[in-house]
Amino acid sequence: MPDGSRSLNLFFSKNNFVGSFNAFSEVSENYLPEFCFIGRSNVGKSSIINAITKSKKLAKTSKTPGRTQSINLFQINEKINIVDLPGYGYAKVSRVKRDELTNLIESYIINRNNLKHVFVLIDCKVGIKDKDIDICDIISESNKKFSIVLTKIDKCAINFIKSQNVSLISLMNNYKLHFNKIFSTSSTKNMGIIDIQKNIFNLSKK
Ligand code: GDP
Repeated sequence: MPDGSRSLNLFFSKNNFVGSFNAFSEVSENYLPEFCFIGRSNVGKSSIINAITKSKKLAKTSKTPGRTQSINLFQINEKINIVDLPGYGYAKVSRVKRDELTNLIESYIINRNNLKHVFVLIDCKVGIKDKDIDICDIISESNKKFSIVLTKIDKCAINFIKSQNVSLISLMNNYKLHFNKIFSTSSTKNMGIIDIQKNIFNLSKK
């Protein structure tokens, strides 16, 4: 059954890397609709960006958590920006560095005017942690919109995925004005990826 995946994959595979930035003030100003991905180190962020953009290594998939410590900007078809934010919560990063990363993430979310939507990634097996809730608070307090992306669902049983969805939905009642939906995904098995592509594509037109 055709589901639009072919044309969406083609659209998203026309992409390029714009730059890597260590401070918000350095991020090139841009008016394209922007979508960013954020989550704990090792949540599967690089893998999902690569799955969405059908690129093997647009975002570096690293076995070393905490390696990506800058804001990485990509462009899709010269129409949409995708931003890979640094992973947070990596224990081996020094406290000073951790504070620096938190400041970088916060100032980006609060100040980036063309930011349309934030995808907050949660490892399905691990579930939501305090730091993820802090991020949801920052997003809603800065009046931006977000969705939750459950990652690596191939590692979990169907009933467990359902129960994660149910408990997250009740938590998200606290963010009614800013929360959109939950995506259940696996980059390895290409599950739920097309739903994120469609969502980004549709939101970019609004
Ligand atoms: P990042 O640190 O958030 O960018 O995470 P990565 O994309 O580098 O992934 C971290 C680890 O999780 C790697 O070993 C990946 O191979 C693995 N991983 C990522 N996505 C999936 C997935 O959908 N399913 C499974 N089973 N493993 C995944």
